[in-house]
Order: sequence, then structure tokens, then C-alpha cells
Amino acid sequence: MLPDQLSLEVGALKGVKPREAEIVLVESGEWLTRRPYHRQRLAWILLSQRTFALEAADAGFAVRVLRGDAPISTLLGDADLGSLVAMEPAEREVRAELAGLVADKRLRFVPHDGFLTTATDLERGRTTEGWRMDRFYQGVRQRTGILMTADGKPVGGKYSFDAENRKRWDGTPSAPTPPEFAGSLLREEVVREIETRFKTHPGELDVDAIPASRVEIDRMWTWAKRACLPNFGPYEDAMSRRSRGVFHTRLSPLMNLHRLLPRTVVDEVAALDLPLQSKEGFIRQVLGWREFVYQVHRATDGFRHGRSADERPLPMPGDGGYARWAGKRWTPMQPAPAGVDGGARPNALRADLDLPPAWWGTESGLACLDHVVGDVWAEGWSHHITRLMVLANIATLLGVSPRELCDWFWIAYIDAWDWVVEPNVLAMGTYGDTGMTTKPYVSGSAYLEKMSDSCAQCRFTPGKDCPIGGLYWAFLARNEPVLRDNLRMKLPLASSRNRSDQARASDHAGFVAVRDVLIRGQPLGIPKLIDPAKTKQKGARP
Ligand SMILES: Cc1cc2nc3c(=O)[nH]c(=O)nc-3n(C[C@H](O)[C@H](O)[C@H](O)COP(=O)(O)OP(=O)(O)OC[C@H]3O[C@@H](n4cnc5c(N)ncnc54)[C@H](O)[C@@H]3O)c2cc1C
Repeated sequence: MLPDQLSLEVGALKGVKPREAEIVLVESGEWLTRRPYHRQRLAWILLSQRTFALEAADAGFAVRVLRGDAPISTLLGDADLGSLVAMEPAEREVRAELAGLVADKRLRFVPHDGFLTTATDLERGRTTEGWRMDRFYQGVRQRTGILMTADGKPVGGKYSFDAENRKRWDGTPSAPTPPEFAGSLLREEVVREIETRFKTHPGELDVDAIPASRVEIDRMWTWAKRACLPNFGPYEDAMSRRSRGVFHTRLSPLMNLHRLLPRTVVDEVAALDLPLQSKEGFIRQVLGWREFVYQVHRATDGFRHGRSADERPLPMPGDGGYARWAGKRWTPMQPAPAGVDGGARPNALRADLDLPPAWWGTESGLACLDHVVGDVWAEGWSHHITRLMVLANIATLLGVSPRELCDWFWIAYIDAWDWVVEPNVLAMGTYGDTGMTTKPYVSGSAYLEKMSDSCAQCRFTPGKDCPIGGLYWAFLARNEPVLRDNLRMKLPLASSRNRSDQARASDHAGFVAVRDVLIRGQPLGIPKLIDPAKTKQKGARP
């Protein structure tokens, strides 16, 4: 069982009795140090895997753990295990690494049955311009009958209540605090190991935030249902310094590790008594977006199809800008095995800027960015809109390379795996690949001011001197040749064209100046010396 397949209810073990099979788990030092992953991500993986091993042993299974510095494929290949069966890995990178063992018939895959949709569902979501999530989602709702009436209509008369889910959050109703899960020998063991064997990894470690046992996972799931979901819909897009999560559920790492099955999540939420805009909004995330990105990643072989030479993978996994920020190269425990490379580099907008050190915690002077980056290095997580409209938006406006940004997300987030991080960053976040969304998700400072409370704490004022406004106009002008034929970009491009020559020149000069300051690792602007507490960053730095 691969490290993200921690359930007895899916894959090769489904329906198998304890005496009929032995479970093999792998803890590979090479795999865990392949990139400078956030310590909290390593803790999630190690704690979940070891807790699962104990549970499987309690259920009567013999469990063998292969532990060492070598790659997963070497640990498996060197052990005398007879013929192995595994659920096909969701990660393309792991599939590629294990291809040799499969070819030698030492390992056989059974289909991945942790997802709720199929490649046929994705094909039904295809239009002449590419795959579309809303079409995919409607098809899946019709096929599964989830949130559908007996006569085949969507409950509430429409498939999506997204347009109603855009409220700003001013602190009321109060946002829930996630539960804590203190104390166990396993937690202590994992902390000790991360602080010794993985001590060079960045990020804060808070092992008590991780629900690991069945009881803890149930507590987390109950918290999500009771405390988050009733208000999930209306405040789904809200960002706030007062609450890192607002009403988001933080279930992604549990689902991605298969500690909580998406099928359970969708079925139970569909049966809950919740306001429809919250119920549908949440189900759309799991049954819609989560499934959609997995299917797109599979169908494109991780965005490798039909790429020009400069978009093909580099030979080695990237470090997301770690070396430039840390001043030293990242060194994995062992070199990456055959089959592993640097991932596809779709780059429709020809963006090639290195990721500025601000994403690693150096102050940028933009309160929205510095605040979210602080959150990420504090806990390896931030919610969707902060990922999309702060971290990816500002990087895209600056022209950061989609691949380097993607590697940074993969490194920094507890829920990152290639099948989910690559579509979200290479396509949705940066528009490096244009086949999955209708337009680039970019905005100026007006959106950030509307949906967050960061601007009030910032040294810059939206609509006046906030550099994000100028970056937005410069982005539109720079990328007009690529975006010109996109119907959804017609209006913003028309506004861009209507700007005076002087304004356009100033947008471009501002873009160059901001880019150059940030890439040097310096903060923008001079702090307004009114209240030092307001500009001080919360959260730990890597
Ligand atoms: C640039 C960028 C990078 C991202 N990287 C990842 C990643 O590495 N891993 C990851 O799991 N999600 C990723 N997402 C999607 C989404 O932001 C997270 O799934 C979500 O924020 C997790 O927090 P939550 O569990 O509280 O989500 P909630 O807001 O409570 O949503 C519920 C669930 O819906 C699913 N979901 C919602 N949107 C998406 C989406 N776009 N793609 C996949 N699943 C979705 C998740 O499973 C999530 O747990 C990324 C999004 C963006 C814009």
C-alpha cells in the first residue's frame, strides 16, 4: 500500500480477509526528501501511515514496513516479497517510478477505486475549447443522482449556487477553531524523527493538528459537518486575517491520503440538513473540482501531451526556489530513481520569472501576500481563495514560471500530490495550460479589497498606490496577443486598450520595478510608520 492509500476499503485489500494477504508499507527516505517538503507534510504522511499500520495489525493483518533511505522502487525491489499487488497510484510520479517493477511482473496494479468518476465522465465534460468543470460536474450529478430529484432535475432548480457564494466575512458568524489531537507515543516518535532525520526541512511542525486515529478522524469530520458546513457556501471566497480557515473544512489531506473516503464525504453531506447553497457548494468542490482535476491529470499524463521542447520536463525534480532563497542546494537522501523527472512545464503565457523569495517568507511589503505566506509556513495549509487569488494570482501577474510555482505549492502544502497540485497550479492558477479553465484567474487589488481584510493592514492603498493594480494592467497588456481570442477576456482587454499611453507606460514601468525589487528579496515601498504591530507578520517563517 502506497503512502497515500491508507484504507482497507479501497484497492487490493477491499473485501480481503486478514489471513489472505500481508500488507507491505514503504517509508522511503529518498521519496520523503525528494523535495524540501514542509515538515508538517512529512508529519502527516508518517503519522498517518504508522497509525494505519497499527490499525491494520489490530484488524488481524500481518504488516511489514520497509524503511530506509532508498527510493520506494528500490526498497520494494530489494525485498524478497513474492508477487505484489497494489492499487494503481494516483500520483503519476509514483506510477512512473514503479513502472519497472510492473514490467518485470513483480508488481501488479488493480484500478484506483478511491475516486468517484471515470475517464468517460471527463469526456462528457469536453467542449471544443477543452474540458469544462461545470459540464463535467453536471454530467456526474446526472449519472450518480447526487443532489438530483426523482424526475432527474437538480435539487433547487440549478446545478450551481456559486453566484450566491461570494460574501465578504467581517467576523460574524464566528469562525470555528479546528480540533486538536494531543498526546500519543506515535506523535512523539514522529516529532523526534522529523527533528532529527528531517531537520533540514522548512516549516513549522504542529503534530497535534493532525487527526490520525479513526476516533480522531471522526472528530475532525464531525467538526467539519457541524461547525464549518452550515456557513460554508456564503463565505467560501472570503479571506481574513482573523481566521486562517474561515468556514473551510481542512479535509483535503485526509481525503488525499484516503484516511477519509470522498464517497463517505459526499454521501453524508448529501444527506445532511444544510442550507442548499452550502451543501451544493461543498459537494461541487469534492464531486466536481477534486474529481475533475484528477481526471484531467490522468487524461493529459500530467500535462505532458503534445508539448513543445521548452515545455517538456526537466530531468530532475525542482526545488520551488528553495536554493535561491536558502543560499544552498537542496540535497535529497539519495538521487531520484529512474522514471522521475522535473514534471511538465506547460507555459502558454511564456512566463519565466524565478519565484521571488517572498514565497519563502522574506517580507514583500504586500500585506495580503506576506500574511498568507506566513500561514503556509506556519501550518502547510491555507484555503482555496488564498491559494488562487493571492499566491497564484500575484505570481502570475509577475510572470513567475508555472512549473516553479507548482513545485513551491507541492513542497509547501500538506495536501499536495502531483495529480491535484499540477492541474490547480499549471492550469487553474497560472493558465500555463489553457485546456481546463475558460480564462486566467487574475485580478487587481479591487477583488482583494472586496474579499479580504488585508488591505486595511497594508502600507499600500488599493486603487491608489497598491502595486497589484498596475501589475494587473501590465499583465493584460503583455499577454494580449495570447488572450485576444478568448471571449471571456474581451472586456478586460478592451479596458486595458482604453488606458492612455501614459498609463500603459507607467503600468509597464511599475511591473518591471516591482518584479526587480521582489526578485532581489527586498520589500516594496516604505512602511507607513503608524502601528508597527500591524505590519508585523503573524506565523512562523521557514
Ligand atoms: C493554486 C492552487 C493549488 C492547490 N493545490 C492543492 C493541493 O496541492 N492539494 C489539494 O488537495 N488541493 C489543492 N488545491 C485545491 C483547494 O485549494 C484545496 O483542496 C482546499 O483549499 C483544501 O482545503 P479544505 O479541505 O478546507 O477545502 P474546502 O474548501 O473545505 O473544500 C472541500 C474539499 O473540496 C476539494 N477541493 C476543492 N477545490 C478543489 C480543487 N480545485 N482541486 C481539488 N480539490 C478541491 C478538496 O478535497 C477539499 O478538501 C489548490 C488550489 C489552488 C488554487
